Amino acid sequence: MKIVVTGGAGFIGSHLCEYLLEKGHEVICVDNYFTGSKENIKHLLSHKSFKEKEHDIINPLFFDESIDQIYNLACPASPIHYQVNKIRTIKACTVGMVNMLGIAKAKKARILQASTSEVYGDPKIHPQHEGYWGHVNMNGPRSCYDEGKRVAESLMMAYHWQNNIDTRIVRIFNTYGPRMAENDGRVVSNFIIQALKNEPLTIYGDGSQTRSFCYVSDLVEAMYRVMNLEKFYNPINLGNPHEFTVLELANKVKQLTKSESEIIFKPLPEDDPVKRKPDISLAKKMISWEPKISVDEGLKTTVEYFRKLLKN
Ligand code: NAD
Ligand code: UDP
Repeated sequence: MKIVVTGGAGFIGSHLCEYLLEKGHEVICVDNYFTGSKENIKHLLSHKSFKEKEHDIINPLFFDESIDQIYNLACPASPIHYQVNKIRTIKACTVGMVNMLGIAKAKKARILQASTSEVYGDPKIHPQHEGYWGHVNMNGPRSCYDEGKRVAESLMMAYHWQNNIDTRIVRIFNTYGPRMAENDGRVVSNFIIQALKNEPLTIYGDGSQTRSFCYVSDLVEAMYRVMNLEKFYNPINLGNPHEFTVLELANKVKQLTKSESEIIFKPLPEDDPVKRKPDISLAKKMISWEPKISVDEGLKTTVEYFRKLLKN
């Protein structure tokens, strides 16, 4: 198949491009290199089935060739990056989404949207299942992303109902692994880099907030399975249900890196969700999937990646 991956030069997108090429597909990676990098895809550039196109999905995009599937990942994902230019983040999720749905319509392609656990906001039920409507502050600092992604889901469903577009929605929970950007600012990469540099690990708040961390290869396999699932249009949670407090994560990273770093506490950002853990019953049922990589194993691989990166 000929497959477009928007955000293909980013952390998850680059692993997805690699996976699709291994499965024998042709891949067109579309990226504006805001948070992604050529470095992430440089090993793919010489592959005969891989093409790269520098483009911002906020602007219309046209393809001469036929397209079978579109994975729409183009959007900054880390809170510090998606808040740099909040208007652009909202535009990527809305105008960008409409542009991608337009291509899906014109090419009769199936389209998968990379949605997020952030559509649940600071959730009032735990763990979060797909039927939960969420608890999002529509005016807060995170709303450009949270509400943007909620509108993107609404657009996907509207185009599906009205124009019969073959849509798939995955709600991705915190995912980590090699190729997270050094300046990404999310907790796993921050802690690992701080630990390797023997700098203080910065916990925001008292560290009692929880997250559940999924290794990137598990996520990519699940995205592929959802994309290729026949006739299922409802959102599906994808994540690792193993829940940690941020303090537990800091201690785990310290232990794995044998770091001398101290742990320091900084103010909790506004609207930072207190708890987050996916209910993955639907994914288990629909795609026979659950994560295989333990957090210890995934963190070790990620530590090795950053160790090498920091040496260069
Ligand atoms: P990332 O920042 O590494 O990747 C995003 C990619 O999109 C980058 O390559 C960036 O340059 C590109 N991009 C951003 N805006 C663009 C635009 N307007 N036009 C074209 N390209 C653009 O982040 P990631 O962690 O790989 O996330 C990928 C997708 O998965 C995002 O849509 C994100 O919302 C979603 N997601 C990720 C997580 C996670 O934990 N990593 C969790 C939930 C959802
Ligand atoms: N966090 C932290 N220290 C950091 C970065 C993040 O304590 O250096 C916390 C953050 O406040 C949040 C959790 O770790 O409670 C996960 O943050 P991240 O930015 O990775 O993702 P989020 O789930 O908030 O989008």
